[in-house]
Amino acid sequence: MYTFMDRIKNELEKLGVKENIPLSELTSFRIGGNAEFVLDADSYEKIKQAVALCIREGIPYVLLGKGTNILAPDAGYNGLVIVFSHPIHPPVWLENKVIACAGTSLTSLAKESVAKGYRGMEGLCGIPGSVGGACAMNAGAYNMEMKQILKRVRVLRNGADQWIDVKPESLGYRRSEFSFPKCIVLEAEIELTEDDGFAKERMLEFGKRRSEKQPLEYPSAGSAFKRPTGYYAGALIEQCGLKGKSVGGAQISPKHAGFIINTGGATESDVSDLIELVRNTVFEQTGVMLEPEIKRMGEKGCIC
Ligand SMILES: Cc1cc2nc3c(=O)[nH]c(=O)nc-3n(C[C@H](O)[C@H](O)[C@H](O)COP(=O)(O)OP(=O)(O)OC[C@H]3O[C@@H](n4cnc5c(N)ncnc54)[C@H](O)[C@@H]3O)c2cc1C
Repeated sequence: MYTFMDRIKNELEKLGVKENIPLSELTSFRIGGNAEFVLDADSYEKIKQAVALCIREGIPYVLLGKGTNILAPDAGYNGLVIVFSHPIHPPVWLENKVIACAGTSLTSLAKESVAKGYRGMEGLCGIPGSVGGACAMNAGAYNMEMKQILKRVRVLRNGADQWIDVKPESLGYRRSEFSFPKCIVLEAEIELTEDDGFAKERMLEFGKRRSEKQPLEYPSAGSAFKRPTGYYAGALIEQCGLKGKSVGGAQISPKHAGFIINTGGATESDVSDLIELVRNTVFEQTGVMLEPEIKRMGEKGCIC
């Protein structure tokens, strides 16, 4: 008998969807069970067809860029994971403006911008995500963030493929209105300024600071907590004696207390328990409630 699921599988197969892919292979934390279906977002038409199919048939779907800010469920994901991990086309430059597709590596684009004689992205070099993920998270470092340079985004929203002008209120500290499930970023237009002659030097200096201070030798999802106003999350965690604290395979990095690392075989619940332990301890000892920066992949999308 030809069932509902056979029909769905057949339609997904036509789009090149793969089955039973470990989320641990799609996320930098290297955690997570199998995703039932995975689509490599390598064509705009395919993305639109896949989203329309999911909406029409009630199939849960979720979006990943390079998966560098994600804690994926141990139980896996029953539905479709659309992955924007490669660019559909190379960045298109027009003087100091560039249009890059969502799957473009943010670090590659930052390097390219500096090589072309522009500044504004050198602080973003080293952030391991995609351009789409950076728009969704308003990624930033060293006093530079996407909000300063993002001019327009091409999004898929409510079935419409449209360019939207970025307003000052569109992005804030690690938040953006251009984020799944509200919308799917397809392309971003970024505007940069002329190099002051030191962009490359700054980029190299920031890279050095990253490798000296961050536990890049272990899988992680970057800073585990947002920066609370007036404090640094890592300093508070260290002050509370939690540096090096472990739950299962998850550990507060002995190198940088703002990072939770996977020392081997960490599970989603190890990381969740460690996050709760940190939040409770820091709140009891300092009165500051830390908010996770890492996004959890939930039933209906990526949520905090
Ligand atoms: C070692 C390390 C260092 C890091 N350093 C920094 C840093 O300095 N500064 C910083 O800000 N972050 C940092 N991060 C975190 C992370 O790299 C950023 O948040 C990055 O912007 C996430 O991009 P991504 O493509 O990996 O998105 P993902 O992690 O895959 O997704 C993050 C969120 O964005 C959504 N999303 C992804 N793509 C799209 C799209 N095309 N359209 C709509 N929504 C989308 C997802 O649904 C999810 O909700 C670091 C991470 C690591 C592992």
